Amino acid sequence: MRKAIGVDLGGSHVTAGIVGDDGSILGQYEQDIEDRSFDAVLGAVKNVVDGALKDGKAKDAVAIGIGAPGNIEPRSGAVLYSPNFLWTDAPLGDRLRKEYSLPIFVANDARCATLGEHTFGIGAGTQNFVLLTIGTGIGGGIVSGGKLLIGNRAGAGEIGHHQIRPTDGFICGCGKRGCFEAQASGTGLIRHAFAVAPSFPRSKLLDRERDKLGSKMIRRAAQAGDGHGLAAWRNFASDLALGLANIIAFVNPEMIALGGGVSTAGEFMLESVRDRVDELTTMVPRGSTQIVVAKLGNDAGQVGAATMAFQGGLTPS
Ligand SMILES: [Zn+2]
Repeated sequence: MRKAIGVDLGGSHVTAGIVGDDGSILGQYEQDIEDRSFDAVLGAVKNVVDGALKDGKAKDAVAIGIGAPGNIEPRSGAVLYSPNFLWTDAPLGDRLRKEYSLPIFVANDARCATLGEHTFGIGAGTQNFVLLTIGTGIGGGIVSGGKLLIGNRAGAGEIGHHQIRPTDGFICGCGKRGCFEAQASGTGLIRHAFAVAPSFPRSKLLDRERDKLGSKMIRRAAQAGDGHGLAAWRNFASDLALGLANIIAFVNPEMIALGGGVSTAGEFMLESVRDRVDELTTMVPRGSTQIVVAKLGNDAGQVGAATMAFQGGLTPS
């Protein structure tokens, strides 16, 4: 079995998996990221890659694939722009190539996760597939005709930044108002809870420090029938459904899989959006897109980064 190191680089931690070409994970090395400066993050990436490479299970690994947030130049592996890390033109690929003799490939983390879910996860066997990773933001990737869409400058699949509420929405990390990510991510759910709070003066839902507020507690309150939680959840689900219907209009995929932290809401989330997605689907046959929960969970990024490396990167051939 061929093996590659698949690295999933996130804003708060980095994980390197030893991944087989059957999608199996043979070992994992993880480190928290506290300092988001380029040199500090590069050091954390090297630590987890070194850990993986020293592991006997990584013997004869053929490549290192890195999934990183932001817009990535596919040949050099430079991170052209990453709002998460506040990096511009960070030479991630080139700096790592100085350290390792193995080929290094870098691509956007959500594109990697899409490749992982499409090759080994819930999307296996589909020709037209979309993955959304819904966590603090919304990442995405589109498979069309069996191939991951890369786009002219590796920007295809930035579904999180199509605007769904340009006049009355929340400000997005990218600077625009009402992006899908600002409205329908875990952060979006918390913001919806604040937005409806004046209608629930006796609610204790948001009675804690802001950095201790999680989207999960708002979802749980909604599931338990709490009025404030439900009002926030309904607005969140309405915005999520709007974005999903737009994706269906653009791509008409067989399947849209919802991954990332918020997807642990599972069937509750799917039930909350299905009818509204159908209502908003006009020109594409209704029901022609299955909306499901992704399968690989937190492993999708590592498996996908390794899959991307096995393929020699995402550079269009
Ligand atoms: Zn945005």
